[in-house]
Amino acid sequence: MLMRLSILLLVLSGLANLGFAAWDPSWWMVPAAFAGWYVADMLSGMVHMLMDYYPARLGVGLDRIYFYQGSRESDEYQGLFRASMKRLNPFERLVYDFKNHHPRPHALGRRTMLRQIGSTIVAGSLPISLLLNAACLIWPVPGWFMAGTLSLLIGGTFAQYFHGTLHREQNPWIVGAMRRVGLLMTPAAHQLHHDTLRRDFATNCGWSNNLLNPVFRFVHQRGWLTDKGLEPQG
Ligand SMILES: [Zn+2]
Ligand SMILES: [Zn+2]
Repeated sequence: MLMRLSILLLVLSGLANLGFAAWDPSWWMVPAAFAGWYVADMLSGMVHMLMDYYPARLGVGLDRIYFYQGSRESDEYQGLFRASMKRLNPFERLVYDFKNHHPRPHALGRRTMLRQIGSTIVAGSLPISLLLNAACLIWPVPGWFMAGTLSLLIGGTFAQYFHGTLHREQNPWIVGAMRRVGLLMTPAAHQLHHDTLRRDFATNCGWSNNLLNPVFRFVHQRGWLTDKGLEPQG
């Protein structure tokens, strides 16, 4: 219920922002929208990098479910999974989800869109979109700024969904169309991340990977992110 309300609010608030943008049209909207799309891609990469290497919570059995050998359909596994998840906050669940998606990438692709983007909407997109509404009511916000921010909001909101589409065979036509024009990355390009877990963390269009790859090498060499964080420890 709360989630449905949040989505409805986000759609209404987004439409209002679109209306504010249309009030002040200019050619600057085009580069601004591309810049917003780039920043959304970079955010997807930065969050992904952090979640992959940030240590999962200890002492709640995450190592047991991560390394579970038997069937994941079994009652035993399902019970262990639910017991562990119950003890995690949404951030810790996200940290686990990112690690779990490396050995089992299709698990992410199987999730419903709501499960993929729900927490992003509640914690990020909705408050930012509402703040933008408020800003437009108080100040004359330029149309190009609105175009850039809307593009960023759309890319940010759907980031985990876009990542999921990279691990699924069947996707809506728009995903294929956006891949063809380069607005979304291809599964082959994303495979570079899964091959090493040390590069190409951005999962929207991948434009920012050239910038983020040296950033990762730097923080990894410094030991700020260590390989121990990649898998849940006991
Ligand atoms: Zn990863
Ligand atoms: Zn992936």
